[in-house]
Amino acid sequence: MEKVLVFATHNKNKVFEVQQLLGDGFEIRTLSDIACHDEIEETGLTLSENASIKSSFVFNKYGLSCFADDTGLEVSALNGAPGVFSARYAGVQKSDNDNINLLLHNLKGNSNREARFKTVISCILDGKETFFEGILEGQIVSEKVGENGFGYDPIFKPNNYNITLAQMTIDEKNKISHRAKATLKFIEFLRQMA
Ligand code: IMP
Repeated sequence: MEKVLVFATHNKNKVFEVQQLLGDGFEIRTLSDIACHDEIEETGLTLSENASIKSSFVFNKYGLSCFADDTGLEVSALNGAPGVFSARYAGVQKSDNDNINLLLHNLKGNSNREARFKTVISCILDGKETFFEGILEGQIVSEKVGENGFGYDPIFKPNNYNITLAQMTIDEKNKISHRAKATLKFIEFLRQMA
């Protein structure tokens, strides 16, 4: 029988990526599926805090097993920025394009392009919270390349690859991504609980 888990997100790209990894054993419900239309404020100062705010909100309000992720892009030359503020780096409009343009502007002329994506998942199962983390190391390229994926994918080239995440298929990205790594740890945990 499929296990039902709420993924505390509205982002269909993320749900698709995670559902591919989870396979048929689990059925993911989104916030829209459970008619949760609240704006959950991500007021944490770390990725773990924000992931926890989202999963706790759903668990406390609906009593459903739930997980939530928070992802940040940490750029070494910018002292780890945008980090936990990645979604609203260029402002509250949360525009991927604006965020990318600001990041490229702030890195202009800088030869240190080192960066990493970090994902933290908070999972609340039967009231107990557990965290999982995944990291993808790479470089920020000088202009957008590729049409796939979302967010900062067009300017992030994983180490040991000559293409950006936005040039990869979803399967290729899922083999190496920060979220895939965190999700695989999460799945392993779910299997042990089953
Ligand atoms: P969130 O925590 O998933 O909402 O993501 C925070 C910010 O990082 C948003 O601007 C997302 O677009 C971006 N982001 C999250 N995951 C990815 C990814 O896999 N690739 C590129 N950008 C991402």
